[in-house]
Amino acid sequence: MKTSIYSLTSHDWGHYFEDKGFNQAGVKYWLDGIYRDSSQWSRHVASSTIKALRNHFDFNLPEIVKTQESDDGTIKFQLQLQDHLEVETVLIPFYKRYTVCLSTQVGCGMKCSFCYTGTQGLKRHLSAGEIVGQYILAYSWLQKNMSSVIKPNIVFMGQGEPLHNYIEVKKAIEVLNDSKCLAIGHRQMTLSTVGFLPGIKELPTFPKINLALSLHSPFPSQRNELIPINQKYQLDEVLDELDKVPLLKRQFITYEYLMIKNFNMTDDHVEALSAKFGHRKALMNLIPFNPFPGAKWDRPSIEEIDLFKKKLVHKKLRVMVRGTKGDDILAACGQLKINQMARTYDGG
Ligand code: SF4
Repeated sequence: MKTSIYSLTSHDWGHYFEDKGFNQAGVKYWLDGIYRDSSQWSRHVASSTIKALRNHFDFNLPEIVKTQESDDGTIKFQLQLQDHLEVETVLIPFYKRYTVCLSTQVGCGMKCSFCYTGTQGLKRHLSAGEIVGQYILAYSWLQKNMSSVIKPNIVFMGQGEPLHNYIEVKKAIEVLNDSKCLAIGHRQMTLSTVGFLPGIKELPTFPKINLALSLHSPFPSQRNELIPINQKYQLDEVLDELDKVPLLKRQFITYEYLMIKNFNMTDDHVEALSAKFGHRKALMNLIPFNPFPGAKWDRPSIEEIDLFKKKLVHKKLRVMVRGTKGDDILAACGQLKINQMARTYDGG
């Protein structure tokens, strides 16, 4: 399979041009052509170079096979990859800007019990080009349909555990962040993990983007039930490793806490969270559980959410409640899933 043009940084292209003996001055115009205006190529890059590059690289983006819009403005794209597997990408409106939620794997092998994607199992990792391609498609859709010129922020919170695929995810972040490629700022990108320790150990080598950990309970038995990988990579070890990741000024780690009715919102949870996070530079992001077909959990009431938040604030923890978006089209957190077999059959 050819390498995608969306999986190389400007540095990589510089090396490639040098290796092949192409004119180095062409790198800038080549990248301008990929990400901004392809008319640059005919004017500034030798046609023999373009021909050689076309022969060696894959120029295709995933294909949008279905677009759904939620009542709250969330847009979910179903994308088909070259091997006909599919992933979902979601655009979430937030004040005057959108955030695009990118998938990093087809399905996911982490089997979190609160997550629809986890019921699908892992089909394969996405390549850096397929991850960057989701962003390009979503941004192009916004420019065309909403006349939006503001680049959306990025969260790596779609299908898949990003750090289970850390080599390709890191490369995708480098391309997205590269000022000569897509130039998305460090603070405009957030990577969320359930605590995949081998990948967390690699984070110091990543561009310094925002980080989030899916926490959901301070207690091992409950966390094991929600996030089975916790049995292998236990929370305290994960927190210690995260503490070592260098951050930018005024950057801190967000700890996501899925609020589940009659499960993880007691006074004991408040005490344990205070003990674990009182001394950390942390933001607790409280998220009401999003039900999906077959889920065994329920969403708490607004009163229960409010009371839990107040108790955490009383313990001097920094807390915010995240509203859910897109749940009417199964585009909210933990609700993404495509029946690959059914789609292949339908499309066949
Ligand atoms: S929550 Fe994330 S890591 Fe867990 S199963 Fe779902 S997609 Fe995978």
